[in-house]
Amino acid sequence: MELCERSAYELSRLLRKKEISAREITESVLSRIEEKEPLIHAYITVTGDLALEQADRADQLIAQGGNIPPLTGIPIAIKDLLCTRGIKTTCASKILANYIPPYNATVVDRLLQQNAVFVGKTNMDEFAMGSSTENSAAGLTRNPVDPERVPGGSSGGSAAVVAAGEAIAAIGSDTGGSIRQPASFCGIVGMKPTYGRVSRYGLIAYASSLDQVGPLCRSVEDCALLLNAISGHDRRDSTSVDLNCPDFLQSLDQDLDGVRIGLPQEYFVEGMESAVRDKVMEAVSFLEQNGAEIREVSLPHTPYAVGTYYLIATAEASSNLARYDAVKYGIRPRDDFEDIIAMYQQARSEGFGREVQRRIMLGTYVLSAGYYDAYYVKAQKARTLIRDDFRKAFEQVDCLVTPVSPCLPFKLGEKVAEPLQMYLVDIYTVSANLAGVPAMSINCGTVENLPVGLQVIGKPFDEEMLLRVAHGYQRLSGGQR
Ligand code: GLN
Repeated sequence: MELCERSAYELSRLLRKKEISAREITESVLSRIEEKEPLIHAYITVTGDLALEQADRADQLIAQGGNIPPLTGIPIAIKDLLCTRGIKTTCASKILANYIPPYNATVVDRLLQQNAVFVGKTNMDEFAMGSSTENSAAGLTRNPVDPERVPGGSSGGSAAVVAAGEAIAAIGSDTGGSIRQPASFCGIVGMKPTYGRVSRYGLIAYASSLDQVGPLCRSVEDCALLLNAISGHDRRDSTSVDLNCPDFLQSLDQDLDGVRIGLPQEYFVEGMESAVRDKVMEAVSFLEQNGAEIREVSLPHTPYAVGTYYLIATAEASSNLARYDAVKYGIRPRDDFEDIIAMYQQARSEGFGREVQRRIMLGTYVLSAGYYDAYYVKAQKARTLIRDDFRKAFEQVDCLVTPVSPCLPFKLGEKVAEPLQMYLVDIYTVSANLAGVPAMSINCGTVENLPVGLQVIGKPFDEEMLLRVAHGYQRLSGGQR
């Protein structure tokens, strides 16, 4: 196996034993990028020179000895909506095509504190709006498992680089499934931590009450390593929670004995491809054979989740995206406008893609006088009911297991003309964001060579339970990816 295909956990061990160098790993990743990018196109920006510089610095630190953080010398890719000082951060939008942030997102700083190596900024759906990475001003990304298919979205670039060996691990964001669904489609591991676990400072906002940053990686161990690095309170994000973070690696040592796993009955109904259902049920039986206790539970408001999500997400997006006005942020096409309205109009019409415009209009409508109570307020009430469903279910079980996506990775172009079809793909992922609970995706096999993802959903701030169940499954089933 080439260095670029190994897990961060394993590489970190080899680095400390001085059996390999950070430069060797980085060179292996960069040459893989050169080989794969013409087809996969998962990066918007590759920072090769910076990566080699950082790798050499990591090698020096390792040579000096002392206390070496676990991500020292590990090549990581960052979704192009996390601010990186001095490195273009575009959100895959024309409107931010020239934006070079003057500061780092907190997550980026925390990775730097661990001496991680930055390989580049990954492709995504524009402003994280989408489920296929086809809504990108930078062009689409292909799924490394099958290049005729989508890698999922919106963190499709982050999932694809990990699956293709173009990075060892990656950071993404998840507002309604954008880490878990691409992880599922590319056959890797992805986690959306509890809302408040990871700082959103420097994350370009889509829907602020739902957005959360998290890792995409090759193994559950890597997920714990990355989570250790990025989580924790940040005084610059008022929604980040001041709770002690455990050492997430320790949750990997426990077995599955007596873990009570709930199957939400509303998640196993029509609309799911039968091959997906079969794979997920196989995984459930496997968990049961290995000591877990399976119980059926009910999340009765599940049928309202997609509608609720698309009202709240678009409302918040319309407000968040008002700042791209060609004055404070965004490209200004020319300087000789008749008046300021004409300038706004042209900048926003040219700068935003169609899906982003659709959502701004939807969200503006939802928030407008006369419709606010009927849509926005009602969606907030539905959100409370959905959150209560989870609270009640967690009185009976320790975690829930569900599919990630109702379908296998679909063909490029298959759903672009039908936004509603695309929205419905999010049926199993949006509820965790509405409820603020942690959720993760691990691979549970393939159907005709296409990966199927298993979702584990947990209580607020109980990422340890997710890691325990996911690692137990991965270790016992022998599944690497
Ligand atoms: N597919 C969902 C949407 O388009 C989720 C996106 C996300 O999590 N960023 O809004």
